[in-house]
Amino acid sequence: MKIKTRRVELPLPWGGGVYATIIDTPNARILVDSGHTSESSRTALMEALSDRAPDLLLLTHAHQDHYGGLPVLRTAYPDLLIYASVHAQAYYEDQYRTVVTHHQHLEQFAVRVGVHGEMYDQILRGFDRIAQSGCTASLDRLLHDADEFELGGIEVRVHHHPGHHHHHLVFELPQLNQVISGDNVFQTNLAPPQVYFDANGRRIPALPQLLESLERLAQIGGRALPSHGEELPEVSSVARRAKAAYERTTHRVTKAWSQFDDPPDLPTLLQSVFGEVPLPLVGLRLGFLLGYADCAGVGDNYR
Ligand SMILES: [Zn+2]
Repeated sequence: MKIKTRRVELPLPWGGGVYATIIDTPNARILVDSGHTSESSRTALMEALSDRAPDLLLLTHAHQDHYGGLPVLRTAYPDLLIYASVHAQAYYEDQYRTVVTHHQHLEQFAVRVGVHGEMYDQILRGFDRIAQSGCTASLDRLLHDADEFELGGIEVRVHHHPGHHHHHLVFELPQLNQVISGDNVFQTNLAPPQVYFDANGRRIPALPQLLESLERLAQIGGRALPSHGEELPEVSSVARRAKAAYERTTHRVTKAWSQFDDPPDLPTLLQSVFGEVPLPLVGLRLGFLLGYADCAGVGDNYR
């Protein structure tokens, strides 16, 4: 059976775009991810789907540039099936409480690791809007690592690859030797490791998980369709190259660390590894820094 995949670029408010992927056979249409919560992204998504209704929405992970189309999709296609990770169920079914809890944990963490002032305000911004974005859904199926299913002649293998996000799923299409790889690996940039917390508010190391996920992605191989940037004709080499790049910067943290007699607070370590970081980039850089600290074996000072 003829199976076609097509990425649709949807605009992001901060520039650039995010891709949703459409998988078509004569019998079914699967949509992977749904763009940003912004009006322009939603309009572009619905335009891309105007020729045919999707039967199933698969969600790679719960970031606002991937699930943003949920409210308009639910309204336009009441019969649309929605599958996501079993770990994402609380998020999609009770987004408000999940986001508010994360925000509280992040506040307490920031205080513990010495982040204050402008930097504190910067990393704690925007959660109200996310908590109230209304991107909720009751999930028709909770996906687990190694699940397989078929719809309209399209076979899908599910892989749980955490690190960029603890729910992150990768969807393998074995008939095409393709993998819809979400945000784990890109042609040019490195994916930011997640900053997240267990139920007690203790930070969980994410970059070690991401490195393991990249190795597993390399083992799947084939052509990758990432959510940002160009397609990757052979994902194995790009995934292993990304892994090596994270490991190289980990050495910079190890070196910086050796200059301190006592563990520095997080902003001091940030300054010594990355120099002066522009305020809008602070959240992103801190995520990378914590990841490198975890891989360098000093992350326990920032939990
Ligand atoms: Zn993401």
